Amino acid sequence: MWNPCLARLPRKLADHELVRAAWEGLDAANVWDSHAHLIGTGDSNSGIYVNPRTESLLNPGEYARRLFFLNAGCVHEEKKGSVDRAYVERMHNLCDGLIATGGPGFKLVLFAFERAFDDGGQPDLARSMFYVPDAYTRDTAKQHAKYFEWAASVHPYRADALDALDGAKKGGAVAVKWLPSAMNIDPASKRCDAFYDFLSKNDIPLIVHAGEERAVTGSEKHEYGNPLRLRRALEAGVRVVVAHCASLGEDRDLDKGEAGPYVASFLLFERLMKVKSFEGRLFGDISAITQRDRAGPNLARVIETGEWHARLLNGSDYPLPGLMPVFSVDYLVSLKLLPESAAPVLKEIRLHNPLLFDFVLKRNLRSNSKALAASVFETRRFFVR
Ligand SMILES: [Zn+2]
Repeated sequence: MWNPCLARLPRKLADHELVRAAWEGLDAANVWDSHAHLIGTGDSNSGIYVNPRTESLLNPGEYARRLFFLNAGCVHEEKKGSVDRAYVERMHNLCDGLIATGGPGFKLVLFAFERAFDDGGQPDLARSMFYVPDAYTRDTAKQHAKYFEWAASVHPYRADALDALDGAKKGGAVAVKWLPSAMNIDPASKRCDAFYDFLSKNDIPLIVHAGEERAVTGSEKHEYGNPLRLRRALEAGVRVVVAHCASLGEDRDLDKGEAGPYVASFLLFERLMKVKSFEGRLFGDISAITQRDRAGPNLARVIETGEWHARLLNGSDYPLPGLMPVFSVDYLVSLKLLPESAAPVLKEIRLHNPLLFDFVLKRNLRSNSKALAASVFETRRFFVR
């Protein structure tokens, strides 16, 4: 569907007015993509594990393997034989593509991905869709420090959770990432208290998926993705980033009891955003919210709610923008969130560089003539203070 060898943009695209305008008003050195996944098949000594039973849309093993074959014949031939490495090489190419259009400093925050653990605190590989160890993520980021920062992923039920967090901190992790429904983490459990205490004392933000998850299955504990369950972390003083602003799915309104009615997860995120004492603590990332199944009223609301923008972080959820059925430029045009004139260029950029595609697309989003503030894209300031 696309050829990764084309990461270097043709001149006419690199110089395109739409691309240049996307960088206007931004300091490239502060532009970090705050949400990117490091995946692979584990064919290096990365320690990556992919559950052979995985059938999800984003099957990391299959995806990486496909990339590897597409990469064959590209400039990095000397490194072929490793899907893990080809995946990282591909990300270099894409970052270089962005840097070429906007200037040095742009980086990706790469996420490690923890296993599921059972309630007894034991790793549960049968229920883990994939596992990307902290050590591999850290080493990848360190080896390519020009392009990458990294976020650790540590399960709070692990007996050695605090040691692992301490190791992550020493290893330069800029955040910790959880996907509670897949990992079997209840963010409202008191079992998380020591973990929250560590994060709060060390000012390490927690990036948490909330709302429905379709890309990554695992423990299937959907109720753990309820945004309201994050109050415990917020009240403990942790800076929490709600991934995708919880823009997909429904959760019980727990403020009406454990069996409260189902409402849009996004409404619960919104409720938390209105709590005064959570200002400076609660944030949202806008990764993936332009996806076909997330765009619509929630995306319009995010664009139009200017008072949220200082609390929003851009991220691509890479590699998702590379998946053709998931994102549709035409759909965004039909919702009047994108000018029709931008569509052909965006589609062409996408063939070359899904990261640049995601960035230029979001810079062009409009709803009732409002746009996302520049600060949404300058996320470095959130991580480095
Ligand atoms: Zn993600």
